[in-house]
Amino acid sequence: MQVLKFGGTSVANAAAINQVIDIVATAARHDTVVVVLSALGGITDALIEAGQLAEAGNEAYQDRLRHIEQRHLTAVQELIPVATRSAALSQIKQRCNELEAICDSVFALGELSARTLDRLMSFGELMSSQLVTERLRSLGIAHAWQDSRQLIRTNSRFGFAEVDFDTTNQQIHDFLAATPAPIYLVPGFIAADASGTTTTLGRGGSDYSGAIYAAALRARRLEIWTDVSGMMTADPRLVRHARPIPHISYQEAMELSHFGAKVLYPPTIQPVMHQGIPLWIKNTFAPADHGTLVEVAPPQNHDVVRGISSISNLTMLNLEGSGMIGIPGFSKRLFGALAGERVNVILITQSSSEHSISVAVGAADAARAKTAVDGEFAHEIDMRRLEPLRLETGLAIVALVGESMKNHPGISGRLFGALGHNGVNIRAIAQGSSEKNISTVIQAADVKKAINVLHEAFFEVEYKQVNVFVVGVGNVGRKLLEQLRQQQHYLLDKLQLQLRVVGLANSRQFVLDPNGLDLTTWPEELARGEAFRLDQLVEQIHALNLRNSVFVDVTASAEVAGCYAALLAKSVAVVACNKVACSSAYSTYARLKGLAREFNANFLFETNVGAGLPVIGTLNDLLRSGDVVQRIEAVLSGTLNFVFNHYDGRRPFAEVVRQAQDEGYTEPDPRLDLSGTDVARKILILAREAGVALEMTDIQNTSFLPASCLEGDVAAFYEQLAAHESHFRQLYDEATAAGKKLRFVARYAGGQAAVGLQAVGPDHDLYTLKGKDNVVLFYTNRYPEQPLVIKGAGAGADVTASGVFADMMRAARV
Ligand code: ADP
Ligand code: ASP
Ligand code: MG
Repeated sequence: MQVLKFGGTSVANAAAINQVIDIVATAARHDTVVVVLSALGGITDALIEAGQLAEAGNEAYQDRLRHIEQRHLTAVQELIPVATRSAALSQIKQRCNELEAICDSVFALGELSARTLDRLMSFGELMSSQLVTERLRSLGIAHAWQDSRQLIRTNSRFGFAEVDFDTTNQQIHDFLAATPAPIYLVPGFIAADASGTTTTLGRGGSDYSGAIYAAALRARRLEIWTDVSGMMTADPRLVRHARPIPHISYQEAMELSHFGAKVLYPPTIQPVMHQGIPLWIKNTFAPADHGTLVEVAPPQNHDVVRGISSISNLTMLNLEGSGMIGIPGFSKRLFGALAGERVNVILITQSSSEHSISVAVGAADAARAKTAVDGEFAHEIDMRRLEPLRLETGLAIVALVGESMKNHPGISGRLFGALGHNGVNIRAIAQGSSEKNISTVIQAADVKKAINVLHEAFFEVEYKQVNVFVVGVGNVGRKLLEQLRQQQHYLLDKLQLQLRVVGLANSRQFVLDPNGLDLTTWPEELARGEAFRLDQLVEQIHALNLRNSVFVDVTASAEVAGCYAALLAKSVAVVACNKVACSSAYSTYARLKGLAREFNANFLFETNVGAGLPVIGTLNDLLRSGDVVQRIEAVLSGTLNFVFNHYDGRRPFAEVVRQAQDEGYTEPDPRLDLSGTDVARKILILAREAGVALEMTDIQNTSFLPASCLEGDVAAFYEQLAAHESHFRQLYDEATAAGKKLRFVARYAGGQAAVGLQAVGPDHDLYTLKGKDNVVLFYTNRYPEQPLVIKGAGAGADVTASGVFADMMRAARV
């Protein structure tokens, strides 16, 4: 004997029903088969809706009924040959008339009791099973149909009836003994109480019907046929990479379903587990797939966590009070009050001080629970020994399930780490002493992200997704996107890293695509984007709430720098090529660093100093390992170095500056470079990173430019440079005559910093510096005389982009 249960999607239409019949016929070749059927997919919802509309006095209930009738009539037409169709049609018609009569009464009375609702819902399973019966009959497949209301006896708790197993088992046996057949066909979900009134077993309850039949008949196996290839490592609607679990224990399956894995109705396990009946979950639309076998002792595989599931729409009930310890029978009274209201308790946590206890329940039960608990403890609340019950709404539970978790240390650590890095705040945690389950309570809005993060952490160890938002597509931005495009395959293949640019913006437009933009066609996609509004972009980044999110600023905009705080506060990492934030008021810089620490999000800006050279990273490494910076001496302007290396009096100074700008070595506004401001910003940032709270005004900047050069706009600036050619010529000639070279040098020592032009001789470390190179000399306690030298190209879109790229990887912790 085998029991096969088919869910709503498996009988949703004629094609699916034919598939079901193939599966049944194959099984019936070897064994007697009991087939338990759900209503056609969506019909139970439609029936409930019709009832509720009728109750509300809304005539639209008739449309719902017509839709229900039409679904079934269409199926009859597609399944039953014309010659025998009329009997089937009239059966469906008759059921629908009955249904209509009930709904009409509900409409007239304006009342839909739980009892009437059960009656209404029963039509779904009754009609689907009759449809399949007619189809089997038309194919000449011998079988017996029986109404489950005659077989499954329950109490009268409408909507969630409890089974009387003694009577049920007896009735099932008696029926089968009296009616021999190779195939039995029964409607799932429905039953009857002692007076014969229709009851139902809870939404999704056809699975349970299957288990009731299997247990009564001591079946060889129970098969639950659905639309996915088994119980999966996570809800496939939330996690794209979820995969079927081939073997799982009853306990684990029970935990997963109890914590939200909809594929199996939680009470289903109990009856089959008691008798050790193997339970298979199989896919009607891919019957050859292995599916999931739920059994006593599944073989161990390398996954420590068997699956992850979640329940949304929860409320936490928090009961607190200093007098809690002294209240006799406290727990008993609390849970008694909840049980009295039939509130299903999903999770309990109690702090070790026993001053508070928190209980998670479905949001629909919360108000009832509060009235009951406050009522139970009214006296203690009056005496101020307890606070009135406090409710916290909008919560969800995410649960890790696996029996071998108890043998592996560090699972909770990994869970906390993965969620923490992604800004998922854990409200409460519960870990049963059996350690089959670790449950966390989080905000409902974070569920999708949390499950994906955990799935990645426990099932895709070698696979990680990084979601990047790039603002700015100028020289550096373009190069960055190009490098990302080139590296995407390598990262996926070699590092199992899926790097996706999810958002892209310039000063005019922005596009978002949660699945990742195509980096070969981004210019067109951006051109089709929405008008750029920074606040909207930030809002959408928060709303998308993607894991491992990194915001990359490759602009020079103060406005964009202004949004870092909002991002970091939501644990979105920020990578800035833009120097504005770190060189503005010290308080801003310090606040951003503080937020990064507090919300566990990286804030990285290596390219603010020395483009792609590892200057800030090295400084941080020195400091972290206990070294102390005594002095920094540096040439930090690729632009100025380029200019002074190329200027030899033969070509006008202005022309050399122009060349630097044309070749992309200057800031968008070259005056920032030439005035020394950019260098001052860089030494300021280094000083701050070294731990000194300097402001921009503290940096002494001795400009080599005549004042008039900085008075007008960029065009005037070039004119003034040309007009003062003799000034630049003189600087050059004097240095050359002394055998020296001109360098724009930044210095930091003893908490003070200065920048200015200097002529350096051949014995100086800064003398041999080619092209647009930068050099930084760190004199520290460990490098007192011979400094630690970092030298190389300090400007250019390519090297800057690769510095940003490296920061992005660090920010995502890969
Ligand atoms: P049926 O109508 O066959 O009873 P259900 O809709 O009740 O099917 O359950 C199957 C659905 O459960 C799947 O389509 C899937 O979207 C959802 N589901 C949620 N969590 C899981 C999980 N862990 N494994 C498999 N399916 C899951
Ligand atoms: N048809 C019922 C429901 O939708 C029972 C089931 O499908 O399991 O809840
Ligand atoms: Mg189901």
